[in-house]
Amino acid sequence: MQQCSCGHRAIYFRRYSGQHLCKRCFSRSIFKKFKDTIRINKLIERDDHVVCGVSGGKDSLVLLHMLKDLQSKFQFELSALVIDEGIAGYRDVSLPYVHRACKQLGVPLHTRSFKEAYGYTLDEVTQIEDRLGACSYCGVFRRNILNQASREIGGTKLALGHNLDDESQVILMNMLRGDMGRFGRTGTFYKDVHPKFIPRIKPLREIPEKELVLYAVISGIEFDFEECPYAHEAFRDDVRDFLNDMEQKRPGTKHTLLKTYDKLFPIFNEQFTPESIATCKRCGEPSISTLCKKCEMIDDIKKKKGY
Ligand code: SF4
Ligand SMILES: [Zn+2]
Ligand SMILES: [Zn+2]
Repeated sequence: MQQCSCGHRAIYFRRYSGQHLCKRCFSRSIFKKFKDTIRINKLIERDDHVVCGVSGGKDSLVLLHMLKDLQSKFQFELSALVIDEGIAGYRDVSLPYVHRACKQLGVPLHTRSFKEAYGYTLDEVTQIEDRLGACSYCGVFRRNILNQASREIGGTKLALGHNLDDESQVILMNMLRGDMGRFGRTGTFYKDVHPKFIPRIKPLREIPEKELVLYAVISGIEFDFEECPYAHEAFRDDVRDFLNDMEQKRPGTKHTLLKTYDKLFPIFNEQFTPESIATCKRCGEPSISTLCKKCEMIDDIKKKKGY
């Protein structure tokens, strides 16, 4: 039986660091990583109003619990925001987890939906126009509502539960696509480039997905295990499989990719991110061009629908 360095029975072997960890040391190490990411990158300041985007999955609910814990030691306001994309059999199952967690933690919850904001559920969008795949519409629509709703709530930071696996996949996908514009937007803290833009923070980005699952189970955090029915985008699946295979052969690959990216981030940010972004002439939200991607997509859907 392997032992943790504290003398207790180990329940987890962290391959990338060679450590055997007991329950307590494992949980402490995860919370420390979360806290250090915030402290080193100055992600939260005193008197910030942090809006935590929650979905009912493990990442966002672990993040909400950790932020609540941090709030008792550090003064900031905390709210939760959930988006109902309108995915039958999926979102309706995960929403009760969000409601229960917010009630238990005493965190005010705000809800928005695609249907209410755009007139269509994601299921309806995919039936009308699926040229780009569900995730493209979902990503653009969700980012738009997250930003707008966070601002309406009075948020000064938008916290998202992206983990190490998500981050390393996005970095590699952007690299393989040659998408340099997005390279300047994947960092720890996407800089404030528009008065209506709420800066996004990702305090879990250095924690592997499987460690977040274990942390949630150990901490008794209930979450929805179901995966979104649209989740399997071929390109991301290939990148995920490649990174998992590399991690298996060379433990630490995902951390190395993230660290390399972070070292290069100031250059990407300087070179490829505009100093300020435009304002959409239709909806008034921050946008790369004069008509934002969300308004462009809504126009396409309406055209397809014939009005
Ligand atoms: S998998 Fe795609 S469609 Fe499903 S919630 Fe995520 S981005 Fe949206
Ligand atoms: Zn221990
Ligand atoms: Zn717009």
